[in-house]
Amino acid sequence: MGDNAGEREELRFLASSLKERVLLDRELGMPLSYIVSGKVAFVNEVDPLPITEAAREKFRKNTFSGEQETALEEARGELGDCRRCRLADSRRNIVFGEGNPAAELVFVGEAPGGDEDLQGKPFVGRAGQLLTKIIIAMGLERQDVYICNILKCRPPGNRNPLPAEIVSCEPFLIRQLEAIKPRVICALGSFAARTLLKSEIPITLLRGHFHDYQGIPLMPTYHPAYLLRNQGAKKQVWEDVQKIMELLPKRGTTV
Ligand code: URA
Repeated sequence: MGDNAGEREELRFLASSLKERVLLDRELGMPLSYIVSGKVAFVNEVDPLPITEAAREKFRKNTFSGEQETALEEARGELGDCRRCRLADSRRNIVFGEGNPAAELVFVGEAPGGDEDLQGKPFVGRAGQLLTKIIIAMGLERQDVYICNILKCRPPGNRNPLPAEIVSCEPFLIRQLEAIKPRVICALGSFAARTLLKSEIPITLLRGHFHDYQGIPLMPTYHPAYLLRNQGAKKQVWEDVQKIMELLPKRGTTV
């Protein structure tokens, strides 16, 4: 019994070492690198791999996803019952964001609308339902990704956010993105794209290409509310999300 338990423990250790190795190989784009010239080598016999800091960082992230949740909770705690700008006077609920704290993909929209303000959740109105359909078409579910906005409170009458409101609110978005460390960010609409990229370039030119946001690839695309009015733009959004999908691990291959 004692021996069996020891063997089981050893097998568990071997299986978990192998799993870690395969995961790291995948991150490095070098699957099965421990198979050297047709023969299976023991892990110790393989020359050290050139592991980049970026790959290590991602691997750490996948292993210790609890850290993201804690960091997000801290950011939410600091936001508190925010009264940093005038939107506090008219909002019903703060819409902080929701989804997987360890998400590979984060969607960033503009600001909550009426439905979001009522429910305290991002993208739950008509535009949100379309976003959910896009996420499902990507082979994902809403709970796989993280969804948030530049502003956490609804501007009255859904007017455009004011510069002072962005200045107050953006630090919390930055905290969210720093906490989650996603593989890809999708900026929904002109406002989100231009705020995140600090750019004046129109969305028609920004979309369709990855841009750099603090080392994270950021894909701007049309806002789902725009799609509701312009069905013809769906094709371009689909092209954009397909590019995002290429950067995400295939479904079923992550652990
Ligand atoms: N539009 C946005 O930009 N965000 C939401 O949460 C809902 C609609």
